[in-house]
Amino acid sequence: MNLFKNTGILYIVPTPIGNLSDITYRALETLKSVDLIACENIKHTNILLKHFNIKNILITFNKINESQKSNNLIEELKKGKKIALVSNAGTPLINDPGYLLIKKCHLFNIQILPLPGPCAAITALIASGLSTHRFCYEGFLPSKKQLRRDLLNSLKKEKRTMIFYESKHRIIETIKDIINEIGENRHIVIAREITKKWEIIYGNKAYLMLSWIKEDENRYNKGENVIIIDGYKEFKNVNISDKIINTFTILRTVLSLKQSVLITSKIHKIKKNNLYQYAITNKDK
Ligand code: SAM
Repeated sequence: MNLFKNTGILYIVPTPIGNLSDITYRALETLKSVDLIACENIKHTNILLKHFNIKNILITFNKINESQKSNNLIEELKKGKKIALVSNAGTPLINDPGYLLIKKCHLFNIQILPLPGPCAAITALIASGLSTHRFCYEGFLPSKKQLRRDLLNSLKKEKRTMIFYESKHRIIETIKDIINEIGENRHIVIAREITKKWEIIYGNKAYLMLSWIKEDENRYNKGENVIIIDGYKEFKNVNISDKIINTFTILRTVLSLKQSVLITSKIHKIKKNNLYQYAITNKDK
């Protein structure tokens, strides 16, 4: 029994995020065979189609016209048309238009066929070295300074790995905000220009990442970025600075754990329990 009232199908088709070879066979077949392709930018999608020698009808479907165009597309789908939805790059709907259209397809009982494919968030996450068991996707941070800071602050104790998109214009400001709101020692990873010529995926403590990004102006003047922030660790909630860690580590090479904790706590006026917690987390026996 066909669950769907209409014979039309909406295909959601991810496209490469940099390297055109990342297109899938199924994406190419779909883009060739559908009745029309709804895309964010005709010029942009034409480059892709031309590269793969595909000719098809393109119509614009973007943030500005999404509401009106969703109604038009629904009418076409009701007539039985097969339509592919693409964005400029990556997976449609992931910080790209499409949500309204998909919602309406559900409302009007129209079949949706999503194709798996490139997505910057997931590609960055799997290479980040941070936990992939539980993660949350936050998209772009607010552009308004205070809202951005408030949001980061609200995520301070988020235990899942956090994924953000960030533009080159704000990357430095955002790292500074991460340092201030989440902590200078939180491990973050920046995945830049994934699948492209200058691809680099690098991670370290937030304050060191700030120096790293400032080292080379190409890192903050050019390119696309995904920022991944390590989740909050229960035992790492004690604010132990590098200075304290240095003292403790040096003492620990010659003294017992108990003596190292006692002396470090006296020098830096820090609770002994916090140092024990640090030691446990870092597997000091
Ligand atoms: N729908 C897309 C996806 O599936 O990844 C995301 C679209 S969003 C408008 C564009 C943002 O994704 C960029 O500003 C950047 O943060 C991230 N991005 C896209 N391509 C990237 C790449 N090759 N390397 C790093 N980040 C990328």
